[in-house]
Order: sequence, then C-alpha cells, then structure tokens
Amino acid sequence: MNIPSIPSKLPQVGTTIFTVMSSLATELGAVNLGQGFPDFPMDARLIGLVDKAMRDGFNQYAHMHGLQSLREVLSAKIEYLYNTSVDPATQITITPGGTYAIYTALTTILRPGDEVIVFEPAYDSYIPNIEINGAVAIRIPLSFPDYRIDWEEVRRRVTSRTRMIMLNSPHNPTGSVLREDDIVALRALVKDSGIFIQSDEVYEHLIFDGVPHQSILRYPDLLERSFVSFSFGKIYHCTGWKLGYSVSSPALMAEFRKVHQFNCFSCHTPSQVALAEFLTDRSSYLDLPAFLQGKRDYFQDLMRATRFTPLPSFGSYFQLYRYDRISDESDKDFAIRITKEYGVAMIPVSAFYTAGKDDKVVRFCFAKKEETLQRAVERLLKI
Ligand code: PMP
Ligand code: GLN
Repeated sequence: MNIPSIPSKLPQVGTTIFTVMSSLATELGAVNLGQGFPDFPMDARLIGLVDKAMRDGFNQYAHMHGLQSLREVLSAKIEYLYNTSVDPATQITITPGGTYAIYTALTTILRPGDEVIVFEPAYDSYIPNIEINGAVAIRIPLSFPDYRIDWEEVRRRVTSRTRMIMLNSPHNPTGSVLREDDIVALRALVKDSGIFIQSDEVYEHLIFDGVPHQSILRYPDLLERSFVSFSFGKIYHCTGWKLGYSVSSPALMAEFRKVHQFNCFSCHTPSQVALAEFLTDRSSYLDLPAFLQGKRDYFQDLMRATRFTPLPSFGSYFQLYRYDRISDESDKDFAIRITKEYGVAMIPVSAFYTAGKDDKVVRFCFAKKEETLQRAVERLLKI
C-alpha cells in the first residue's frame, strides 16, 4: 500500500513550551508556576449559572455569532468601559477561546506573501498562525528590559507588503502594557495605510496599579481596521472553558464570520447563557484588577528573600525574574534544572523568540493560591 506523506506546513514547530513544562511538572510533582492557569476555584455563582442553563434546557446549538444576550451584555460593557458603541449584531463574535479568535482574524486577512509585524517576545501561537496562512512574520524585538515598542524601528520595517500588526496588552510573557504614547504612534503609523491590527487583549482586566488599559476599543478609528480578541477563560479563572470573543468593524466581522462558520460554527451554549447573566453584575470584572494585583504583590513579597531579581509586571498573570545572580546557564537549561532539582516549574522567556534570544529571564505565573505560591518560594529560597 502506498501511504502518502506530506511536507510539514510548519516545519519549525515543535511542542509548545507550556506543554513541555507542565508535563515535566506533573511527572516530577513540581509546583507548577509555568503554564498560565489559576489553581484556585472559579466563581461558584458562575458554575451554578451553567448548571442552571443546562437544566433549563439550553443544550442545543447557540447562534453562529454567539448567544445574542451575551453579545448584548458585552456591547454594554464596552460602552461603559471604553465609551465606544459596538453593535452586538454585526461587530461581536463569540469564539472557542482567544487563540481561535486570533487564528480566525489572521486567516480572514492574510494572503500568501503578506507581511505581519510581530513583537518578540511573542505569545507562541502568533508566528505559526501567520505562517500557516502563507504570510511572513516580520519580527521586531521589544526593548529590553522594559519591553516596550520601538516605533522608529517599526516605521523602518513597514513595506508595501505590510498587511497587519499584532499587539498584545497586557503582554504575555512580560507583563508590560501599552501606554497612551504607543497609541499615538500606532495611529500615526497606520493612518492612510492598508495595515490591519490584531490586538490580543485577553488580560484586559488583569492590569495593576491603576494603569488604564489602552484597549483598541477606545479608539473607533483604530477599531475600523482591527480585530480585538478576548478570553473568558483567562478572566474568569476557567481556562479550560476555551471561550472568548472578537470585536471588529461590521465589514471585517462579516468576513471573519465566513471563516468561523465553517470551522467551529458555534460555541458551548450553557457557558454563554451563564456568562450573559454573570456579566450583568459589573463587579464580575471591576473587582478583577485588585484581586490579581493582590496575588502579584503577595508573590513579589515572598520572592524578595530569594536571589531572583524582579522585572516590573504591570498586568497579566505573569512576573518575570532575572536569575543572573544565581547562574549563567541558558534560560531553558535553568528552567528545566530548577524544575528537576528544586521542584518549581517556570517558563524560559527565550521560548517566545523565534531565534531563541536569551536575556536570562524566566516567567512565573502568580495566578495561584497563596499556599501554592508559598510552597514554590520555600523551594526557590534554597537556590
Ligand atoms: N493570548 C495570550 C497572550 C494568552 O496568554 C492566552 C492564554 N492562553 C491566549 C491568547 C489564549 O486564550 P484562550 O485560552 O482563550 O485561547
Ligand atoms: N496562555 C498560557 C500561558 O501563557 C498557556 C496557554 C496554552 O497552554 N496554550 O501560559
């Protein structure tokens, strides 16, 4: 029998670092501060609402664009937070997670040969998502150690083939956030151009110290050329739900939905019914920054007694640390050795650079119970 073989569409892609480090942590029984997921329970009220939705018979396909009542509550939230009017009928689509929303946005826009500006360190799905669409990733490093965008460099790298720019704020893995001057520079850059924007805002509410979230949703002129993506899983401490949404202009969203309807069609109905009710209570999102900031501060306080040196974290689930006072190993070797020898898993930041740029920095996830953070730091203190 002749079994066909294919050349890989993603020859450079191996197993994601999150799976590598989580598998190692499970195998060794290490405290897992690597992959970004909470280990504390999600809100019991939200669980109750899903249960109720199922018992009430909401168990069949939801609308292809997402449950209407959920899109309406999201539109009201956007109006309240960002003072922008978004039509729930034409501008919001519920997706099976933030990752899918990004993939669908890229697939909607990109054609072979298009260039996409992506900042590194970059969340690990971005570049494979660009390349699977036959487009080319133009990688621009964020400045080190403050991880900000060098807009001069961006201007130099724009060509007639530049089709899209990918943003992520609050940023994974670094915890940096976009500031108002970044928006000014972005506006100047894209004005009168054919450049689209994919803005990954899954950590929208996980932003600290009173810094405002510079959502693209605040800027209707930018939203006209953008897909802005979110994740309920990240925000409501249920990453396993894999539910999110994308917001765009009516014209772009119509094209997005053509891709979506033959890929996923519609998302888990009971969770959407539950979220539509849960989000009517504004505290469900307004209380989140203080809650996560408390976790960041708790972790930072404990870590002060170790030999790790912190970098600032303005948002996300994550806190970066330098380990140059401990070792000169590569960050990957360091992360694996510490997981094996001391029983704490972390993520090497070089995994977020295609060329593996290694500034000897590792990422810890602080979205954990206090006792988990204590247990981890007790071990890290021995280093
Ligand atoms: N973007 C970033 C920056 C993330 O950290 C995550 C978290 N997993 C996602 C997208 C994906 O979210 P989801 O799990 O909803 O696909
Ligand atoms: N976003 C999570 C992180 O950065 C992981 C999600 C995943 O494993 N794909 O750790």
